Amino acid sequence: MPIVTYQFESSESKAVTKDQTPAAMEQWAQKAMAHLTKDRLVPTPDNFSVYYAYYADANPNLTMAMNALIDQHGGLDQGHCTELYLAHLSLEAEHKVLQEASQTISNEIKQVMGVLEQSSDDSTQYNATLNNFNGALQSTVSLEQIRSAVARVANETRVMAEQNQRLHAQLSHSTQELTEMRFNLDEVRKASLIDPLTNVGNRKYFDLELERILEEAEENGTPVSLLMGDIDHFKKFNDTFGHLIGDEVLKLVARTLVENLKGRDIIARYGGEEFVILMPQTSVNDAEKVGNQLRTILATKKICRRRTNETLGTVTISIGATQYIPKEDPEIFIDRADKALYEAKQTGRNKVIASKPE
Ligand code: GH3
Ligand code: MG
Ligand code: MG
Repeated sequence: MPIVTYQFESSESKAVTKDQTPAAMEQWAQKAMAHLTKDRLVPTPDNFSVYYAYYADANPNLTMAMNALIDQHGGLDQGHCTELYLAHLSLEAEHKVLQEASQTISNEIKQVMGVLEQSSDDSTQYNATLNNFNGALQSTVSLEQIRSAVARVANETRVMAEQNQRLHAQLSHSTQELTEMRFNLDEVRKASLIDPLTNVGNRKYFDLELERILEEAEENGTPVSLLMGDIDHFKKFNDTFGHLIGDEVLKLVARTLVENLKGRDIIARYGGEEFVILMPQTSVNDAEKVGNQLRTILATKKICRRRTNETLGTVTISIGATQYIPKEDPEIFIDRADKALYEAKQTGRNKVIASKPE
C-alpha cells in the first residue's frame, strides 16, 4: 500500500468526477483517509463515509455543507463530522430501505394480481362448464352423455380447486412477506430516531416530540420546560484521553440523564456533546432544580479506563433552562435555552442558568 501524500485542494478548485471506476474509487478512499488524518479524526465507518462521499461528490448537499465548514474552520471536528453524517448519510440509508420496501410491496401486489386474473379466467371457464352441464341435464337422455358431462364437471372442479389452493398459498405468502416488511419498517423507523452511540433519541426524535408536546401543552394549558446541556471542556478531554474514551463519556452522560429523569421527559442528543431534555408539565423553576440535580450527580461520577481501572477524572456539564411561552415560535423557545446555556458557559461552567419570564 503506497503512502499517500496528498495536497489539499481549495473547495473552488476541487475537480469533480463522477467516473465510478475502481481506480477513481480508490483515489476517493485515499483522499478521504488522508483528509480524515489531517483533521485528526478517527476513521470510524461513519467518519470515513462522510469524507468518502465528499470526494466522490456523491451528495451535493453534504459537499456544500462540508465546504462551508472547511472554509469556516479549516477542517472538521468530530461534532461537525457526526452532524454531517446524521444530516446527510444516515437518512440516505433510511431512504434506501424505504425504496426496497416499496419494491417488495409492488412485487407482492403484482403476484397476487396475476393469480387473481388467472383465477378469474378459470372461474369464467368453470361457470361455462356448469352452465353447459345444466343444459345437458335438461336435454340429454343417454347415460353415456350424462357420465361424460359429470366427468367434465369433475375435472373443471378439480382445476378450480387447485387454482384456489394456489391463490390461497400466494395470498398467505404475500401476507407473510408484508407482515415481515411492516416489522422491518417499524424497526427502521425506531432506529432512525435513536442516536446509535448513546441510545437516547436523536435530533429528529427531539423535533418530533417537541411538536407533539407543545401541541399538548397548548391544548391543556400546562407548562413545558427545556434544558439544554453541553459538556464542559470536552475537547480537552478528547484531546487528552482520546476519542474512544470521549465516546464513553458521552454514554455516561446519556445514562446519567436517563437514570435520573422521569419517563415522561424527552431526552435527546442534540449535537456532538450537547443534550436536550424536554419536560412536559414542568415549570422553569422545577426544571432548574432538576438541572442542578443532574449536574451534581454527573460531577460525582468518576471516569475510569476500563482496562486498567485508572481514574481519569470527572466531567461537568453546563445547562440552560427555559419555559415555553404559549403561542411562541418553537425556535425562539430553543434559542432562549441556548442563550441561557451560553451564559452558563461564560460565567464559569458547571452550572444551570435559567431564563425566566419577567
Ligand atoms: P465548552 O466547555 O465551551 O463547551 O468547551 P468544549 O471543549 O466542550 O466545546 P467545543 O465545542 O470546543 O468542543 C466540543 C468537542 O466535542 C469537540 C469534539 O471533538 C467533541 N465531540 C463532538 N462529538 C463527539 C463524539 O461523537 N465523540 C467524541 N469523542 N467527541 C465528540
Ligand atoms: Mg458544544
Ligand atoms: Mg462543550
